[in-house]
Order: sequence, then structure tokens, then C-alpha cells
Amino acid sequence: MNRPLRSDPSRCSPGIRQALARGLAKRCPRCGRERLMDGYYRLRPACRKCGQQFQRAIEDHIGLIYITTAIQTAMFAAFALLVRPDNPWLWRGALAVVALAVMMLNLPNRKGLAIAIDYLTRRGVEQQEPGVSRET
Ligand SMILES: [Zn+2]
Repeated sequence: MNRPLRSDPSRCSPGIRQALARGLAKRCPRCGRERLMDGYYRLRPACRKCGQQFQRAIEDHIGLIYITTAIQTAMFAAFALLVRPDNPWLWRGALAVVALAVMMLNLPNRKGLAIAIDYLTRRGVEQQEPGVSRET
């Protein structure tokens, strides 16, 4: 795809922490000037500022989302077992609702983090392969 870029992409090379922070904030991990999503969860195809592609195969993102969901579930389950309320069923029901709400609310952030990790790994591969160039 030879779409003209609005800025020099070679100037957009963030560090690892900056790219991850941008992903968590649902911003382009490369330039940070564009939102990753339209609406709550629908991913944009690419950054309109720097041309970074966002949409890859779903398998590239689903692993991290699955792992972070499992970690959060384990944390809420441990919390539910550690607290001994008077009415355990009410407590666990309320905690399940809170856990689902928290996981749904941070789902776009986790997807942004997955995109940032994908960007960082692909950037590393592209820098190591001398035959691969970003621009033609
Ligand atoms: Zn960008």
C-alpha cells in the first residue's frame, strides 16, 4: 500500500515503555497522535497520522487478552476466597458483577496493549531483516 504519509515515519520510533503506554491509553503505539479505535472496541485499520497498520489477524491479539483475562479472574477469585463476609453468596455475586464490569471496561486498554506489543515485535523483526523495508 503506497498511501502517502502525513509525517516522516522514521521520526516516530518510540521506546518500549512509551509504545506500551500509548497502547494502554488506546493511542497509536508508533506516534501516539491517533486513537486506535472508533467507538468502544472497533479497531481502526491504520493510523491516519503515521500510517501504522493496526488490524492484523485476530490471533495476534487474542493471546494477550486471554492471558490478562485469566490473570484478572484469578485475582478476583483469590479475593473472593480471602474475604469472609456474613453473606458469602451475596458477596460473591456482587464481586462477580464487579469483576465482569472491570474486565469489560479495561478490555479496550488490553487490546491496545496487545497492539503495542505486536508493533514492538514486528518493528524488531523488520529492523533485524535487512531485506525488509517499510517504504517503497
Ligand atoms: Zn500513528
